[in-house]
Amino acid sequence: MTKTIERISLGAMSPGTERFLAVHRYGTKGARPKAYVQASLHSDEIPGMLAVHHLQRLLDEADKKGAIKGEIVVVPVANPIGLGQIVNGSHSGRYELRGGGNFNRQWPDLFDGLLDAVRTKLSADQAANVAVVRAAIGTKINQMMPDTELSRLKVELARLAHDADMVLDLHCDDEALMHVYMQPMHWQDFSDIAAELGARASLLCVDSKAQSFDETFSLPWSKLQDAIGDKFPIPNACFATTVEFRGQADVFDEMASEDAAGLYRFLQRHGVLAGDPGKVPELQCEGTDLEATDIVRAPKAGVIAYKVALGAQVKKGDLIAELVDPLADDANKARQPIRALTDGLVLSRCLRKLVSPGDGIAMIVGTAKLAHRKGGTLLSD
Ligand SMILES: [Zn+2]
Repeated sequence: MTKTIERISLGAMSPGTERFLAVHRYGTKGARPKAYVQASLHSDEIPGMLAVHHLQRLLDEADKKGAIKGEIVVVPVANPIGLGQIVNGSHSGRYELRGGGNFNRQWPDLFDGLLDAVRTKLSADQAANVAVVRAAIGTKINQMMPDTELSRLKVELARLAHDADMVLDLHCDDEALMHVYMQPMHWQDFSDIAAELGARASLLCVDSKAQSFDETFSLPWSKLQDAIGDKFPIPNACFATTVEFRGQADVFDEMASEDAAGLYRFLQRHGVLAGDPGKVPELQCEGTDLEATDIVRAPKAGVIAYKVALGAQVKKGDLIAELVDPLADDANKARQPIRALTDGLVLSRCLRKLVSPGDGIAMIVGTAKLAHRKGGTLLSD
């Protein structure tokens, strides 16, 4: 058995309140390929934790049989800070209550200073370049001096994930179909994760400008390629993906065990685990540009009454929902239609039906890039 369990302290923000990250490692440290898997960075997104629970049962079995070929680092609870944020019976797990913002935004820019750190060490040897870049990123993380619990959480998770070949960050949406995010350059080699999980959308984007966890580890490679040109070979050495395990209420053993089996076969196919994963299942979606996915927004405050179901195919101009003004003098004039701005698949809807102006109320996955999605960040906060 190779499995080890480590507890990493996040320090105390007030006396007697110390929290820990639990890290479950399989395989030999430093073995390749290395996969990093974490669940519920948005701590109110529970499906990932149940999927990881099932995945760990499979990994424990594989470990007994000596089937761990690479290294697998599993963080079953990526955000113990958010997990404790139950306020008057409601779980508030997306934003840090101390004011640190969205837990999956504003991750450190690991490209910052990277070019200077590696410039004189690169060569024509691609594998050596990968090692040089990983070491430089590791050094940068080791030099960070986190002081708060939140900054420690970010540095410790980055330390665990930064040198992985594959980073799987398991989330969910409000009410949604299974979908994944990744960089377009990884689609060809890693679309099997979408196939294995039965994803209904695969949203491709080089840089959402949101500084999300997954992009923290994939972006330095593409930015370095842009900076270096073809002077030295730099591969996209970190496949990082955010997997959205449907909606917040989709927490069931039947789903989670199938999802875990899909992740297991993905890890087999990419050489982390021994065994035959079989044929890649048929994809249920193509990879589409994230700029072609519209986030339908509420024009003003009100109560949302949906007119389309998840999975519906809509056309531009179709009615998505009506926004009801409960204070309208005339109830017959209380409804404002909200229409689709693109043709596509209704991927998600929001759970909270009382909305404020600008709130995203649905995602529609189209194929034509949308002018109004250019500029700014491509993800909702
Ligand atoms: Zn999330």
